[in-house]
Amino acid sequence: MSSIQSDAAAGSEGTSPRASTAPGPGGSSTRTNAERVLVVEDEPALLRALEINLRARGYQVSSSGNGRAALAEAARRPPDAVLLDLGLPDLDGTELIRRLRSWTAVPVLVLSGRAGSGDKIGALDAGADDYVTKPFSMEELLARLRALLRRDAQPSSRQIFTIGHATIDLVARSVTRRLDDAGAPESAAPLHLTRTEWRMLEILLRSPGQLVPSGRLLSELWGPGAEDRTYYLRFHMAGLRRKLEDDPPRPRHLLTEPGMGYRYQP
Ligand code: CA
Repeated sequence: MSSIQSDAAAGSEGTSPRASTAPGPGGSSTRTNAERVLVVEDEPALLRALEINLRARGYQVSSSGNGRAALAEAARRPPDAVLLDLGLPDLDGTELIRRLRSWTAVPVLVLSGRAGSGDKIGALDAGADDYVTKPFSMEELLARLRALLRRDAQPSSRQIFTIGHATIDLVARSVTRRLDDAGAPESAAPLHLTRTEWRMLEILLRSPGQLVPSGRLLSELWGPGAEDRTYYLRFHMAGLRRKLEDDPPRPRHLLTEPGMGYRYQP
């Protein structure tokens, strides 16, 4: 595994982290600098399916069927992302996240097989970044994984976003909303957002496709001690949807994850 980067065709790919090597003398077409994903899952069939799908998309995969081996592997070869089953034979998944978080900010995507959201909330509180509930579609899992890896790769590069008919410019702090489908500039009207709406929207837009836990929003907006005031979030989210979504009762971009948090779906 450690030889993959040194196999790269000489001098060609220094600036492009996702570039593929040209096949070398040995005929290898291995992707250089492939992101490494650590999969922690004790169901052999699911573990195998994850390995196959991730490798097919060019990721390097390390895997482990229990928590202690996973921690050792993560320390030996730090991964770019972790897929973590919460129900492991030797170590609670939430405890594993806590131990990882003592030394690394690596994105953690939880695979939860348990009914109810109590364990998922515990995992998010411990520092997980997102979750999927079993049974999940492989495409959904891969989309969530890409979103988490994007977050690490390019923080806050984008400034202009659209939600339905609304265009949001985070630098100019302006929102305009087209009044019809024609899209002519003269048909756009400015919209006013409150200060709290701006801050909440900015946090969500900076994490496209990712779950933003309610606790994180509350502590970023109102500081420590506000974590149980989720009704603040419901109130301001209702305001954002009323202004930005084309059909506020059925939002398509500013989504609620019941009991967990919010997600901006581009
Ligand atoms: Ca399990």
